[in-house]
Amino acid sequence: MNNFQYFNPVRIVFGEGQIKELSNLVPNNARVLITYGGGSAQRTGTLDEVKDALNAEGSKREVFEFGGIEPNPEFTTLMKAADMVNENNVDFILAVGGGSVIDGSKFVALVSHLTEEDSPSSNKVSREKAWDALTSFTKGIDSAIDLGAVLTIPATGSEMNSGGVINYSERQAKLPFGNPLTYPKFSILDPTKTLTLPERQVMNGVADAFVHVIEQYLTYPVNAKVQDAFAESLLKILITEGKAVKANPDDLEVRKNIMWTATMALNGLIGAGVPQDWTTHMIGHELTSLHSIDHARTLTIVLPSLMRELKVSKKDKLLQYAQNVWNISTDTAQDEDAIIEEAIVRTENFFKDLGLPISLADANLDESAIDPIIKQLEAHGMTKLGEHKANDLEVSRRILQRAAQ
Ligand code: NAP
Ligand code: FE
Repeated sequence: MNNFQYFNPVRIVFGEGQIKELSNLVPNNARVLITYGGGSAQRTGTLDEVKDALNAEGSKREVFEFGGIEPNPEFTTLMKAADMVNENNVDFILAVGGGSVIDGSKFVALVSHLTEEDSPSSNKVSREKAWDALTSFTKGIDSAIDLGAVLTIPATGSEMNSGGVINYSERQAKLPFGNPLTYPKFSILDPTKTLTLPERQVMNGVADAFVHVIEQYLTYPVNAKVQDAFAESLLKILITEGKAVKANPDDLEVRKNIMWTATMALNGLIGAGVPQDWTTHMIGHELTSLHSIDHARTLTIVLPSLMRELKVSKKDKLLQYAQNVWNISTDTAQDEDAIIEEAIVRTENFFKDLGLPISLADANLDESAIDPIIKQLEAHGMTKLGEHKANDLEVSRRILQRAAQ
């Protein structure tokens, strides 16, 4: 196991009816900006529930609202939210939604103090400074507004980590950032809130969490027994519960397990002290930015091809994955290549059973999509990906060529 520091300050408040806890969790005199997405929080009544809790008897809070944060949150929209933070002296942001709203709110929390230099009294956030912050992974930013979250879709783990991904359509860029200042103070996980999700979003969430685990697991062994066993358990739970939620979407126990698994998949625990390979996500971001494919669907397109392309450098962990996650016998009489291929096919079948694409063709794309993706990876500095920093543009190209077959 490699050396590591592990720190996660996020208070998780899990369970049905827990939104009422907001009255204890958000400081009583706060000037709160509620951020939300394209309308589901309103439609489902969650927004009203949140406001009721914030305005509970005795509250001295002032509450503002900013709706309309898109899936794959848009830089330009977030700049408007950041202006609103300044105009109203907001000192607490409450994100109500999924990864897009939470990620976007984290970015707002980090950049709203970057106002335009030429007018120091201006409330307007400098778009250039905010863009520079994003392209530098928000390094150097040393203050942020406090943030909490009410999660409505289990998928990204954003509710319990300090990362985010921001889309800037005009610049054809979808870029990640990470900053310890953006760990939420708390996240409320009420599994009943996930019952209103369309099936497509439920399956997207299961797949995103699955790939998060894989990217912290499928590298090379470092004898990290806790992390490996934990990762394998999360993968097995996602396989069984993914199928269960498809068959019985109203089963709340299944929803609870999916919700907590997705959070645990990317809260830093299984990634501590182990090598990581985020190539699937980085290629996936380009597919979203160029072709507007849902985040999780980009991952299920890329991952099987990545496994095949990198099966030599990942051989030991692929065999372990085959045995411990898919129960494929790895007794020495069997051909290792066949075992690995069987594990990859089972992974593909799992994704297909959830209605997810596993090739570029499944997303109506062909080989002609590859060059622009490679150009974007280059432009965004994604030229040395993977646990060995060996996934250069040629490797990414070969992965995409496999995905085009
Ligand atoms: P999302 O983009 O936040 O939401 C997807 C859709 O689900 C939206 O259309 C939303 O509608 C709808 N929705 C959410 N909750 C709902 C509910 N309870 N009932 C009905 N509809 C609901 O989905 P996500 O998968 O959580 O987030 C994806 C983003 O996170 C991507 O940008 C991805 O790159 C990023 N990401 C972040 C991390 C991280 O660690 N921070 C990791 C992986 C991915 P409304 O807009 O109407 O609410
Ligand atoms: Fe993801």
